[in-house]
Amino acid sequence: MFGSHLSIAGSMVNALHEARALGLDTVQVFTKNQQQWNVKPLDDAVRQEWLAELTSLGWHGRTVSHASYLINLASHDDALWAKSVDLMQVEIERCEALGIAFLVHHPGSFVGWTLDEGLERIADAYRELFIRTRGFATVLCLEGTAGAGSQIGGPFEHLASLRRLICDRVKEPGRVGVCLDTCHMHAAGYDLSTRELAEEAFDTFSRVVGMEHLRVMHLNDSKGKVGSHLDRHEHIGQGWVGGGAKAHAGEGTFSQAALRASGFAAVINHPHIQSIPKILETPKGTSPDGRAWDSVNLERLRGLISAAPGSLATPSPAGIASTAHSGQSKARPIAKGKKKPQTQARRKPGQQSVKSGRTGSKARE
Ligand SMILES: [Zn+2]
Ligand SMILES: [Zn+2]
Repeated sequence: MFGSHLSIAGSMVNALHEARALGLDTVQVFTKNQQQWNVKPLDDAVRQEWLAELTSLGWHGRTVSHASYLINLASHDDALWAKSVDLMQVEIERCEALGIAFLVHHPGSFVGWTLDEGLERIADAYRELFIRTRGFATVLCLEGTAGAGSQIGGPFEHLASLRRLICDRVKEPGRVGVCLDTCHMHAAGYDLSTRELAEEAFDTFSRVVGMEHLRVMHLNDSKGKVGSHLDRHEHIGQGWVGGGAKAHAGEGTFSQAALRASGFAAVINHPHIQSIPKILETPKGTSPDGRAWDSVNLERLRGLISAAPGSLATPSPAGIASTAHSGQSKARPIAKGKKKPQTQARRKPGQQSVKSGRTGSKARE
């Protein structure tokens, strides 16, 4: 199930129209101007139009919204925290009214505080939010981040601890999910540049958090190197994840063979991830061949789908056609010096101990 983050300029329904025109199976939207605290109530005509189109597309249960970046549920500032909870409530209510299945949000930043205090604060926010929105269907998804400074959500351990703390406080644990972003994972230190390393990263996630809690994926290549903590999205196959493991490939150097050897092949063919919404948040605009970048990035990803779901077998016809390396995916790329990057990858995301309250002093933001 592939989608893209699309604009709601003009009217909410425009995002659905554009998604259909791009050949997508779902969409991610902001349900309002994401840079403003004040929100006008959702117009009922806008809502009806959206719901009618959702029904005609058969997209109930699969669309995604991204919450405003202004929200910080981990804030130690009581006024900002209360404002964040109020705005998050509005986000949840709008999703519910629009039949949007998943609301993705960044966990927050514990700046000026300790990690553990930040995690507790988010869990307290969830308790309040779930009291205010009891019985709603929308699933809230904690998004994994690049883990810069005091940002929560880089290491999988943050997401696992957070989910546990939240589920201790709320009565509807089924409404608490997780979203992973390939760019953020790589930047946080989980090396996705080879298929093998990516499979190991998802095995780790499965052990630490649980695959069943992964409800949404964001598919972005990364302008930043592994462990850089840089949250900058790149076109699929042109960054440090899908560009061939050795470099930020950049524009004009795309290779489907390199992409097929990268972690994107592991993501696309993972048996669980196949069934959940996978959203592009790559740059918009027109590619050098005159097509929309979303179409180009989508085609690159679809070219990775294996004949046998979840297997490492034959690449798709599209993949064969675009390169001469049809046997490539059978011979799994064995990363040279694999041990080293792997050890680094493991250690970095876990460096901030969830138990230790000392990490707050390291905050750089
Ligand atoms: Zn994302
Ligand atoms: Zn990002």
